[in-house]
Parts: sequence; structure tokens; C-alpha cells
Amino acid sequence: MGKNLYIAEKPSVAMEFARVLGIKGMKRNGYIESEDSVVTWCVGHLVNMSYPEKYDVELKKWKVETLPFIPDEFRYEVIENVKNQFEAVKGQLERKDVETIYVCTDSGREGEYIYRLVDMMVVTNGKVKKRVWIDSQTEDEILRGIREAKDLGEYDNLSSAAYLRAIEDYLIGINCSRIFTIIYGNLISNILNTKYSVIAVGRVMTCVLGMIVQREREIRNFVKSVYYKVNAVSCGNSFKYKVDTESIYFASPKLFNESGFNKEEYAHELIKYLKEDNEPVKAMIEEIKKTKEARNPPLLYNLAELQNDCSKKMKISPDETLKIVQELYEKKLITYPRTDARVLSTSVAKEIDKNLKGLINYKFKEEVGKILDEKKYEKLSRTKYVDDKKITDHYAIIPTGFGIGGVDRLGEQQRIVFELIVRRFLAIFFESAEYKKITIKIKIKTESFYLNSKACVKRGYLDILDDSSNDDEDENNLDNNFSSFKKGQEILVDDFEIKEGETTPPKRYNSGTIILAMENAGKLIEDEDLREQIKGSGIGTSATRAEILSKLERIEYINLNKKTQILTPTLTGEIIYDIVKCSMPTLLEPEFTASWEKGLSMIEHGVIEKGDYMQKLTGYIEKNINKLKLKKDHKMIFNQILNIPRNITKGKCKCCNGEIQENSKAFYCSNYKNGCEFKIWKNELESIGVEIDRKLVDDILGKDSMVVKSAGAEDVYVSIRDSKRGGVMILLANENK
Ligand SMILES: [Zn+2]
Repeated sequence: MGKNLYIAEKPSVAMEFARVLGIKGMKRNGYIESEDSVVTWCVGHLVNMSYPEKYDVELKKWKVETLPFIPDEFRYEVIENVKNQFEAVKGQLERKDVETIYVCTDSGREGEYIYRLVDMMVVTNGKVKKRVWIDSQTEDEILRGIREAKDLGEYDNLSSAAYLRAIEDYLIGINCSRIFTIIYGNLISNILNTKYSVIAVGRVMTCVLGMIVQREREIRNFVKSVYYKVNAVSCGNSFKYKVDTESIYFASPKLFNESGFNKEEYAHELIKYLKEDNEPVKAMIEEIKKTKEARNPPLLYNLAELQNDCSKKMKISPDETLKIVQELYEKKLITYPRTDARVLSTSVAKEIDKNLKGLINYKFKEEVGKILDEKKYEKLSRTKYVDDKKITDHYAIIPTGFGIGGVDRLGEQQRIVFELIVRRFLAIFFESAEYKKITIKIKIKTESFYLNSKACVKRGYLDILDDSSNDDEDENNLDNNFSSFKKGQEILVDDFEIKEGETTPPKRYNSGTIILAMENAGKLIEDEDLREQIKGSGIGTSATRAEILSKLERIEYINLNKKTQILTPTLTGEIIYDIVKCSMPTLLEPEFTASWEKGLSMIEHGVIEKGDYMQKLTGYIEKNINKLKLKKDHKMIFNQILNIPRNITKGKCKCCNGEIQENSKAFYCSNYKNGCEFKIWKNELESIGVEIDRKLVDDILGKDSMVVKSAGAEDVYVSIRDSKRGGVMILLANENK
């Protein structure tokens, strides 16, 4: 009888398969073999697409004439530094005594691609090929995956989508980066004062850069408006003014919004009117409204939601979160992490008590015990947390219930992320949280004032989700405070106060919110409840978003503040944005980028043909590259780009009055060649939670010291003084005012 060959994506996973299958064989050069089985492994990708120069040496030079580069047939090659492992894998796949191949690479598009590329380069005539598709790496699940492995052919559509994704990134990356660099490279060098600039353009990457640049410009162009609100104070309670149809200010141009005036004098005018023939000022309690509001536990984590929470709570990047969950997955603690779904499948829900029972020895013994005793999991299938229609390949991230004994040996961050996942999971078995709201409306003459108060009356799932943001009053206080108020009662107003309000600029993206915005075609929905309902098409996939962000940071188009996780574009990033905006704006449109992603998912589900997709793709590239080749607009675009205010700092060096220049690490003096060492290090700004903002640098250069708001919203005192770092002048300080 022939042997079974198991091929995994990486060595650690291969060892796990060998252990579960009881394959106790010799570990040889790149594989393990027993009587009836062989286990081998890739080391991630072993094969990739060949660069243009492999098609034709002449294509090594970047020339307009050779673009667009769209080969009829794509070439692939073994990656040089993993050649040995490729040979080992090839040797096993081509063995005469191997009868069945079990593909055990990661259960996703990229995992499929890793195997298919290898398969393409070897000869496996007549062998049976099966695909092992699993949701976790527990023993049971691995065995189930092997037992229920389907024919590899059933995953051909997924494979087509994987190939097309790579081709699309390749064609857009190569053609656009080349044409943009040829045309605009010098322009960038001139603006940035560098020798040579390559312009890196990517299908998803450039779109994300655009989101970050646009947001920065909205903030830069934002003009703050101040308005004036009026409160009526009675017995220590502040009632807030709100205009309604009975008001003498209804639809008045003096109003800024329904609760504030354009000018302070109008606020005084209102107070004067309220006091006129009415002293002491009397008010009538017109309405006391009590309402109750329930909030259900949120849906489970998918990767984007988890990355957002980790960015917010732990200040770690999506890339770091992905690494951590991958580790937790390989330690069998959690289910497959690269998932979009926030719900469970019916079949998993049926056996969910297994996951719960496994958690009994984890830190929430009491809570888990209660869920099990009261069988709170029995009706799970009928809740919003279970929905087969909302699952494509994997369900939400939940604890498997296995490997709990190993939690103590995890690193600190791994432990925290695991706990987040467990809390989120247990929460769905908890009751909803309930709030009581009291609204008291008082009337002074024709004008209405409101007092709103809210208290959490039942914490429900908040007990496990530990939302410490809950700083409402408790119920007793709420009732006590307002028990003296009765409808129709007259009260005295002790005083009026005028409060300034101001409009706020949009917020910068941080590493978490950008992932959420990518998940929803460029729109960030801040409210988690709303996010549950709206599921748009995404930019990138769960598996790729973190890497795209890391790449933008690596090539210095964006800056990620390590302390605050806030994203800002660099000067280079902004110029690239302007170039793309002027010459190929569709690359910046989230909806457009998301539509490509949607196309790929339609290929995956067999809705459209890959030929049609390819045609659309090559058509897009040909049209756009040929348009750029015509050159007729270039001069205009050059001028347009040169005329955009760059926000390059205009400040002067504090030592020698030289010009201030900027690179990725610092703002420095143009006289550095003559020995001036003046520098403002960007990471010094980061370390005090201040974003890299050229206007801020100018402001500081113009003064000796100033107070700025940090991302934590506290005031930070900033001054320029000597630093210990090589004796240069530097910006520093984190002292309270
Ligand atoms: Zn200087």
C-alpha cells in the first residue's frame, strides 16, 4: 500500500501533525517518515513570481517604451534562499510510493497559494490529493480535518483567487511604480532634496496611504468654531439650554446649533430675557421622563476588531497583534485567527460546552461554572452570535478550551490578548446590561432647559468585559438625586452660566481604527453596535491588512507613533499621494479598491470566471499606463504638485539661523555640513505623545517654550534645550504645567 504524505506550511505545524498522527519516524533532511506516512513542510512561500528581467534582460531597465508590462503567461521560480527545502518537498511529492497527498497548509487563500505554487513546479502524476481544512490546531480538529479532507479540486476556485490576487498586486505594483518613478522621480527628489526617489505604488497600499493623507489634510484645513451654551443652575444641578419650537429663538440666525449661540452677547441676551420681570427666576418642571435601555454583549472578535482593541488597550500595532494570535493559535489556545466573521457556525455552537469546559481551569472558574451549571449555552444557536450565513471560511476567534495549562508559560502580551479573547467569548453567555435614564425638562418663560442623567442598573456582561469606561452614577444616587422633583412643580433658578463650546477637527486614524476603516471600504464606523449591522466590502483581507500598514511605515510613507499608535503621513507620503491623485486617482478610491477585492471573492465562490477578471485588470492597467505615457499633462501636473502648500517647516535653526530640513528621523539644520548639530528628533516628539506635525515644529522654533496637547489630551510642556544625545539641541520635556 502506498504512503500518505502530509505537507504543512511551516515546520512547527508539521511537527504538530506528526505528533497528532502518531508518526514516530526519523527526522530526515526536510521531512519525517514512518512505515506508512511522510510529513514534510514549506517554510512559508517556496515559489514566487519572476521579475520582469527573467522574461527579458532588457526589462531590467525602467523605460517608458516597455510599459505596460503584461506577459501572456506568467513565470514562476523557486525562491533562492529556500531552495533546499523546496528540493526536499519536491522529492517527497514525486516519490513513487506516495499515493495520497494531504495538503495541510494554512486554511485560507494564502495557504492554498503556498501549496499550489509548489504543486505547479513538480510532477505528481496520478496521486490522490486531499485538502485538510481546519478551524483550530487542537488534536480533535486536526484529526477531523484529515478524516473529512475533501478533494483538492474542490478548492480550485480558491486557488484561482489566490493566483489572481498575486497577479494583480504584481501588475499594478510593477507597472505603476515604474511609470510613476520614470515620470515623477526627479520631481520628488527636487522637493525632498534627495538624490534618487523610487515611487512605490501598490493596489491596497496606495489606497490606505490616501486615507491617511486625506484625514491629515482635513485636520490641517479645519477651522475651529466657538459657540456659547447657557445653563440654568438650580440646587446644584445644571440644566442645559436647548431651543425648541416654542422658543423665541426658534430658527434664529443667532443660533450656532440647537443648544448654542454664535456670539457671547446673544447668550447674555437670552439670560437678560429670562430674568426680565422674573426675579427671583422661577422655572416650571414640565416633564420627568424615565426610560430603560438594554445593551447586548457585543459580537465575538474577528481579527480586525481584535486588532482595534489591542491598539486601543495595549498600544500595539495590528502586525504585533497578528503575531501574538498566530502564536496562540499554534499553541492550540484559540481558533483560526485570520477571520472576518464575528459569529459562530451552528455546528460549533452545538458543541460549545466543550470550549467552556476546557476553560474551567482558567481564571474565570466561577463564571464558567455558572454558565455550565445553568446550561446558558443551550439556546446559543438561536442568538445573533450564531449565523451560518455570515461565515465564509472561518468563524469568529474564540478560545478552544485546550492548552490552558500552558497559559502561565506565555509571554505577558500573549496572556493579555488571550484573556481579551476569553472575556469576549464568555460575555455572550451573560445577560444584557441595563441602563436607566432620567430626563427632566424645565421651562423658564418660553425657553426649555434639560437635565439628563443615566445610571447602569444591571451590569450584566459588563462584569466580564470589564468596561471600566462605565462612570455613570449608580441607580440609588440617580433616584435619590431627583426624588424631590415633581412634575408641575415650581423651582427657583439660582444662577445662569455661559459655557464655551468648540467644534473639533476629525480624529487622526490610529493603527486600530485604520484596520476597521479598511474592513469597511474606507469608512470608519466608530460605534461598535452600528458596526455589527453594517458589513461592507473591505480593502485588503484580514490576513494582509497588518502587513500593508507595516510596509507603508517601513518605506517611510507614514509614521506610526509607537506610544499612541496614531498614524500620520510623512512628507514623502503626501507628495506620492498628490502625484497619484493628479494622475491615477482611482488608485486612491476605497470603493474602487474594495471592488477588486469583491471580484476576487466572487472568483473564490465561482460566481465569475477568472478570464473575465483578468480582462478587466489588464484593461485597467493598459488604459491608465498608456494615458500616462502620452505625457501631455505632465507639465500641468508638475506645476499642480509644486504649487500644493507642503507644510515644510519654515522655522529657523536656533543655533545659526539656518533653514530647517526634515528627514524620516529628525528636523535638522541645513548647515549640518558646516557642523551645525541642531536637531529635533521625531522620536522625542513621539515619546511625549505628540504627533509629528510640521506646524508644531515651526511654532516651537519661534518660541522658547510652549504647552501643547498630547494624544492623551493632557498638556505637555515643550521646550528646546540641550540634549544628552551627542550634545545637539533638542526638543523635549514632559512636565506638568
Ligand atoms: Zn544651524
